[in-house]
Amino acid sequence: MLSVEDARERMLSGLPLVEIERITLDRCLGRVPASFCVTAAIDVPPFANSAMDGFAVRAADLPGEPFIVGEVAAGAGSLPTVEPGTTVRIMTGAPMPPGADTVVPIEAATELGVRVRLPDAPIGEFVRAAGHDTRVGDAVELPAASLGPAAIAVLASLGIGEVEVRRRPVVAILSTGDELVVPGEPLGPGQIYDANSVSLAAAVVEAGGEPRRQAIATDDAALIEQSLREGSQGSDLLVVSGGVSVGRHDHVRAAIEALGELGFWRIAVQPGKPLAFGRVGGRPVIGLPGNPVSALVTFELFVRPMLRVMQGLLGDGRARVVACATERMAKDGDRRAYLRVRLTASEDGYRAEPAGGQQSSQLRPLAAANALLIVPEGVAAAERGHRYEAIVLGALA
Ligand code: AMP
Ligand code: MG
Repeated sequence: MLSVEDARERMLSGLPLVEIERITLDRCLGRVPASFCVTAAIDVPPFANSAMDGFAVRAADLPGEPFIVGEVAAGAGSLPTVEPGTTVRIMTGAPMPPGADTVVPIEAATELGVRVRLPDAPIGEFVRAAGHDTRVGDAVELPAASLGPAAIAVLASLGIGEVEVRRRPVVAILSTGDELVVPGEPLGPGQIYDANSVSLAAAVVEAGGEPRRQAIATDDAALIEQSLREGSQGSDLLVVSGGVSVGRHDHVRAAIEALGELGFWRIAVQPGKPLAFGRVGGRPVIGLPGNPVSALVTFELFVRPMLRVMQGLLGDGRARVVACATERMAKDGDRRAYLRVRLTASEDGYRAEPAGGQQSSQLRPLAAANALLIVPEGVAAAERGHRYEAIVLGALA
């Protein structure tokens, strides 16, 4: 059996980067920029402006009772000059008028008709200098991550209206199994609903990819081959679920071998031991176990990093913490387990309690979990009171 790290390394090695496309800023949430560094073409802010509603004045005139000679609002193009002994009403974000070097907030001022009483203030108070956030020519580093609202705001403030990002990797998704029925249709005897098509498509979207769902394939060798061939056309990656094990109706590994090459298929991971990786039509194909929990956990461990690498990112983009198990949770001694837990922050660190049963057919505990607790190979359980690393999947309680 391969370790999780060895399997992941093999899956990630030689993966191509997807191409770059240019899109408008309003469409780039969650997209990965082609470059994480942009050169500022302007100062931000482009001009000195007021941080408060108040009076723009010369600090040398403070304290004092200057004459009010005008008003400047945000967006003003022509500006009155502030001569000695005068002041100008100014609004937040309005350009500093020539002559003024300080702003006294309206709350500190006492209006006296044509004059205003202003207290003392240090020179430059409540003035935002031109370029105090960014200077023209600065190398502006973006986080090495997909674009979030704040990074988008930085780009917008620099006047960038279009950005070069990686195309979304297209992922063909194929569920296999004679028993599977599309949710919403009636169930016949022996049938269950196909949970994986939609869950894996959602996980692809979360990882920045573009899912392309195929019709469910029954456990028929020829049909599975045909579906894999179709899936490999126009996609960057194929994700198949079910049919990768050693049962008489498991045809996925043989189909991959027939169409391309099968790399490996046994990984020391729980859930998810039978997992196939290979290539079809030059495209990487991964066959995940059919159990919905196993399918999603192995997606997290292997497919999510693949989609990130294809977009120019590293790792899985998840936070990790160390957490103390609140009770014993049994596992397979030979394999590394990823237990579905609820993580809570307590005074003495994070605590991990089981989010429910740990069988790979028990889907609701995965939905209730906000973390996967990593319990190493070679032990039969997570022991109560022992500390383990956890992958944080959702908000902490
Ligand atoms: P398999 O990997 O094909 O041996 O399937 C393992 C278990 O997962 C079986 O109980 C299947 O019925 C179930 N299963 C397989 N595919 C799906 C799916 N798409 N949705 C829900 N359960 C599935
Ligand atoms: Mg099956």
